Amino acid sequence: MSRTPPDEALIAGEWRRGAGAPNVTVDPATGAPLATVHAVSVEEVAEAARAAASAAADPRWRALLPHQRARLLVRIAELIDAEAEQLAALQTADTGKALTETRALVASAAGTFRYTAAALETAEEALTPARGAYVTMSVYEPIGVVGAINPWNSPIASDAQKLAPALAGGNAVLLKPAEWTPLVSLALGRLVTRALDELALPRALLAVLPGPGRIVGDALVRDSRVGKVTFTGGTSTGRTLAHAAAEKLMPLSLELGGKSPTIVRADADVEQALAGVMFGVFSSSGQSCIAGSRLFVARELYEDFVGELVRRTQKLRVGPGTDPATQVAPLVHHRHRDAVAGYVDLARSEGARVLCGGAVPDGPQYADGAYYLPTVLDGLANTARTCQEEIFGPVLVALPFDDEDDLVAQANDSVYGLACGIWTRDHRAAWRLARRIDAGTVWINTYKQFSISTPFGGMKDSGLGREKGRDGIRAHQRQKALYWGTAESPLPWAT
Ligand code: NAD
Repeated sequence: MSRTPPDEALIAGEWRRGAGAPNVTVDPATGAPLATVHAVSVEEVAEAARAAASAAADPRWRALLPHQRARLLVRIAELIDAEAEQLAALQTADTGKALTETRALVASAAGTFRYTAAALETAEEALTPARGAYVTMSVYEPIGVVGAINPWNSPIASDAQKLAPALAGGNAVLLKPAEWTPLVSLALGRLVTRALDELALPRALLAVLPGPGRIVGDALVRDSRVGKVTFTGGTSTGRTLAHAAAEKLMPLSLELGGKSPTIVRADADVEQALAGVMFGVFSSSGQSCIAGSRLFVARELYEDFVGELVRRTQKLRVGPGTDPATQVAPLVHHRHRDAVAGYVDLARSEGARVLCGGAVPDGPQYADGAYYLPTVLDGLANTARTCQEEIFGPVLVALPFDDEDDLVAQANDSVYGLACGIWTRDHRAAWRLARRIDAGTVWINTYKQFSISTPFGGMKDSGLGREKGRDGIRAHQRQKALYWGTAESPLPWAT
């Protein structure tokens, strides 16, 4: 029996059960039901948006100076730290991810709130040189209500990346978690409610609205009170949202999918490259927008490198996220595991060689979970669907390259442009390549490392706009120009 958490949704400052359909979330390591969470209704989205708009305008919030708003963010970070272990365990149960990873995600969420508080404390507004008898400056004001829609792969970290800058910008936020993984967002919501109560701020500054994207997410995006949407998820969903945003002329930022190339040049440190390639694609069981899922290896190194990669991949430990020895945890959901398996079948039909994996692991301990073996494929051209479409699972496709022009042409032959990894000892070649590849982030002799102070986002179909960094707050504000006349007769028309 799944348990029903007392706090299923946060609507208009009130914790209560949503009026929509129930959704049972499942532990993907065992297939056991975890909790029943009712979706909110379309009417409840409108109710939350109304309350959020008045909370955003409430003088208790609106009149706060930036350093006073920063106190809220610091307090949220403290509360996350205090409950770090429970939050990590909950996220492991809900997403299947390894505890080592969910602990890191929880720490990064607290760090995001802290960094954003510091950025807010030290933000400056510029006085631009005036071209007349006036002083001009830009000021930044809250948008009002920001909608934040997230996918299931790293809920607490992506929630923090959206909540922190939106609150820092002086807004109220409507957060919609993914259907498969609402539990950590709800737990984070409880901590934010506590911080708001402690600081006597309006509770409706945050709503957490679980439910299906096409109903709850759609109502959120279309609500007239929502002035910006910040979205992370699939490219086709992002496109749907962009159409809805165009109707309202509403700004939106999109963090979307990827099919990121990892490049191993002949002069790479092979040990480091092997470890980097495997971590880049198989950590998070490949359920990562920045997974390095297309591997390009210099032809002279190809057979040896891919051979060793396959030997090591076969030794990766597949198991439940709760086991500290696990390197490849189950996928988020049995349906997603089946979709990943379907892609490997497609690869076979396209003529791929399955060098390892390509199946559900054997053994009674895997029977009920959403497991899939880490898989290496080759023998395909970069134009194959397997090389072009995002699989979002532990599946790597390896391709050889002949020279730099061939490499760049293949790597850039993708609708995506999210990330890239380059393994080489030649710093000039790394620089050249990094500048020639279409990607929002390029890692050189490392992979999947993140700094909250470095803006992140995609090119091409991988997204629009940047998150993180000091400018992340500005992306949740409206800029206003002020002209302050200084002349005795400020205008050409004397009256
Ligand atoms: P998804 O697009 O199916 O769903 C993402 C969110 O959007 C969910 O909360 C969903 O309910 C909601 N949604 C769906 N349809 C909607 C609609 N019509 N209107 C409003 N909301 C709607 O993606 P997913 O399967 O949950 O996540 C996987 C995808 O996310 C992958 O493509 C991955 O690359 C991408 N992703 C990108 C980043 C990044 O930073 N670039 C990070 C993580 C995941």
